[in-house]
Amino acid sequence: MGKPSLPSGLFKKILVANRGEIALRVICACKDLGIPTVAVYSEADRNSLPVRFADQAICIGPAKSARSYLDVRSIISAAELTNVDAIHPGYGFLSENAAFAEVCRDSHIKFIGPRPEVISAMGLKERARAIMKDYGVPILPGSEGILGSVEEALETAGKIGYPIILKASAGGGGRGMRIVHKPEELEANLMQAQQEAGAAFSSADVYLEKYISAPRHIEFQLLADEHGNVEILGERECSIQRRHQKLLEESPSPALRSDVRERVSAKLKEAIKAIGYSNAGTVEFLMDEKGDLYFIEVNARIQVEHPVTEAVTGIDLVKAQIRIAAGHTLPDILGGPVQFRGHAIECRINAENPETFQPSPGRITGLNLPGGIGIRVDTHAFQDGVIPPYYDSLVAKLIAHGSTRDEAIQRMKRALDLFIVEGIHTSIPLHKRILVEPDFISGNFDTNFIKRWMP
Ligand code: ADP
Repeated sequence: MGKPSLPSGLFKKILVANRGEIALRVICACKDLGIPTVAVYSEADRNSLPVRFADQAICIGPAKSARSYLDVRSIISAAELTNVDAIHPGYGFLSENAAFAEVCRDSHIKFIGPRPEVISAMGLKERARAIMKDYGVPILPGSEGILGSVEEALETAGKIGYPIILKASAGGGGRGMRIVHKPEELEANLMQAQQEAGAAFSSADVYLEKYISAPRHIEFQLLADEHGNVEILGERECSIQRRHQKLLEESPSPALRSDVRERVSAKLKEAIKAIGYSNAGTVEFLMDEKGDLYFIEVNARIQVEHPVTEAVTGIDLVKAQIRIAAGHTLPDILGGPVQFRGHAIECRINAENPETFQPSPGRITGLNLPGGIGIRVDTHAFQDGVIPPYYDSLVAKLIAHGSTRDEAIQRMKRALDLFIVEGIHTSIPLHKRILVEPDFISGNFDTNFIKRWMP
């Protein structure tokens, strides 16, 4: 990051509307900026580290997210009571909720994220797709807008060729998608997709696009300020997934050609500027066998895997988010051209059985966190701490940075060996297996990698 002295004109106090490792991550960024924080917590998180390390903490309700971390009224009351002037939403929960961002604006509290109008446009995948297409960002062949009838779906699918994927425009979290292999299956699938979308996302809008059977998932990190400056901070390769959930991410991608990276980044920069997007964001793409990228969606928030980009660029993305929301300019925040150094990998350490993937909440009876050169651990875990069963199972993020991909892999293996968690099961053994797979080491994998060697 550019200048050593702290910038003026920041917030006087920030409320962190989240829990777990990301709440702690935001608190750390605020400490680095000298901004006091307020943690909000559910009854299940009373003894958590964010509560301990924030300057103030307020209980906002019972364990159930709907009555605590998703309860807009409780959170706004806590913000007013503690007199904060900004809210950081983290990821998940209310982070992409345009209505929440609007309530913040109406309450004169700065929401650290894009404007509500931009959040809602990006939250509808089909709309985001149309916008990206208008600015020349490559999208997969598919329907022009929301599907109006079975006939239209059959005609479009016939033109682009099977398999196709039906997607709920308001969908997310890997849900609301259906793959169709032949025309005879289309009608029934469309009806079901519309019904499910209506029930789960309160919008029955469905569109279709070409299904790529062995894609790589590659996403671009960006920062955009409120003055029209946009920077693309390289990409992350997130193809090591299970059921569309990312397990391991790295930067740079071992597969992305530099001409494709440059071409897509340039188009993206124009699109993001034209949309009036501000703050941090991620634009997700699928790569086909030919190495070409196709837009799939925008995540208008900080992402779980942001530390790999921080490792290779040296830029504190959460600090940048806060400064952008305070009106600072990107040239000021970055202090010069973005430079990329080495290779970084992140392993998501989940509280789950590494064989069955069943959640494994409970008390941590023994803990050794690895460290040493090139290693970073972002976690809310501590000795005798409890991982509650009510939320996602992420316990820690282990990030290894090296001057080459090989060095990052070696450091990650060493750190996984030194990472001890007792009392609950974790995905550490799974990561150890991934790191010695020849296809992983050679960089030759796609989103089916886990499925292929794990029945
Ligand atoms: P969500 O918002 O639910 O995460 P995405 O649109 O980001 O949904 O897609 C999630 C994952 O689903 C991708 O990483 C990829 O593995 C798979 N996927 C999505 N669209 C396609 C497609 N057109 N072809 C093949 N796989 C896809």
